[in-house]
Amino acid sequence: MNFSFRPEEEAFRQEVRAFLADHRDLDGFFRQGQVWPEVKAMFQAMGERGWLALAWPREVGGLGGGPVLEFLLWDEVAHARAARNPLAAGIVARTLIRHGSEEQQAKWLPPIRSGDLHFSLAYSEPEAGSDLAGLRTRAELHGDRYVVDGRKIWQSYAQDMDCLWLLARTGAPDSRGRGLSLMMVPIDTPGVEVTPHPTLDGDQLNEVLLEGVEVPVENRVGAENGAWSIMAEALADERHIQFPPGRVRRDVEEMSAWVVAQGLDRDPRVRARMADLAVRALEVEMHGLRVLDAMQKGRPAVVEAAANKVVHTVVCQEIARAVMDFGGPEVLVSGSRPALLWCQSMWETIGGGTSEVMRGVVARQGLGLGGRS
Ligand SMILES: Cc1cc2nc3c(=O)[nH]c(=O)nc-3n(C[C@H](O)[C@H](O)[C@H](O)COP(=O)(O)OP(=O)(O)OC[C@H]3O[C@@H](n4cnc5c(N)ncnc54)[C@H](O)[C@@H]3O)c2cc1C
Repeated sequence: MNFSFRPEEEAFRQEVRAFLADHRDLDGFFRQGQVWPEVKAMFQAMGERGWLALAWPREVGGLGGGPVLEFLLWDEVAHARAARNPLAAGIVARTLIRHGSEEQQAKWLPPIRSGDLHFSLAYSEPEAGSDLAGLRTRAELHGDRYVVDGRKIWQSYAQDMDCLWLLARTGAPDSRGRGLSLMMVPIDTPGVEVTPHPTLDGDQLNEVLLEGVEVPVENRVGAENGAWSIMAEALADERHIQFPPGRVRRDVEEMSAWVVAQGLDRDPRVRARMADLAVRALEVEMHGLRVLDAMQKGRPAVVEAAANKVVHTVVCQEIARAVMDFGGPEVLVSGSRPALLWCQSMWETIGGGTSEVMRGVVARQGLGLGGRS
């Protein structure tokens, strides 16, 4: 594995850093709902540079760049705390490129590329998170449109987004993963109701109720009942940008500065623990690079990505936990940076697949333990 980037890749990293000078510390990475107009403006500025379509093929308006440039882009954006990578330019666009019709590509890709059209992921339900194949939201075909009824929960950013990237059951109730379809649903469609669920970090998740929602059949992406393999492919394309190590690097930098500001750095126990965390952050960096390396070599990186998610999120918790221990419980009520990192670190082991599920992937697929199902 080669740990160094090529000169032109390093030059791109510098270009991204220069761009981010105007967007640093927006904190959209943590609380996008509080700063959505600013985050959207940044995405539009990225769109002007073609960066939201960095790795899309040129035939569909992309820059044809590879995973390394994408990794560097979102790593720097995470380090700047500016934003997380938008779902539209990632999962949605990649799926449209692989499985969308020419009409769908012509209609949906340009506004995604320019940063004007944004999506929320509507997969999870009250009884279906880790076990997504059990979801119940139903889409019945009536002529040229589906009628959708169901309840989704934990939709990040739905309050500000234009569309849902909806996973719904079009097959028989017991069809599990074989009976699911993907569709794009404008959030202002009659029958869609978004209800906020405030979160500890001062932002919000959402519940999305769908009642008699009519979705034109041309908004379905891929074959009816064919969503399962499509979703796996979209995820596979994104593994290198899902958990950028720059976020953890920045946590260590910020918490070191906090320790100094509190005068805690004179305590050798604090210094030793911060040094341990700096080493852990390097482990995170290594896992991120392993994912990238596997993808560059055309391997699916399933095990590397699962291991990366566990280590990345656990180290975030270790950093927040350490600062809690140094500063005492008052850091929780002070509205301070450590308090925000602590709140964030609690959910990161859940969203995007829980640590238990990720460890299951490593055990089964990495170590061959307990069968492969
Ligand atoms: C901040 C945040 C943002 C999110 N954003 C979105 C979003 O935008 N769109 C969306 O659709 N969803 C979103 N989610 C939902 C997220 O995908 C689910 O919360 C997650 O998949 C877990 O599902 P669940 O909450 O139903 O828990 P469950 O699946 O019910 O899990 C409960 C517990 O059982 C354990 N468990 C479950 N299955 C297994 C297993 N096979 N082996 C071992 N242990 C297991 C879990 O690890 C967990 O500890 C978000 C969640 C969070 C926290």
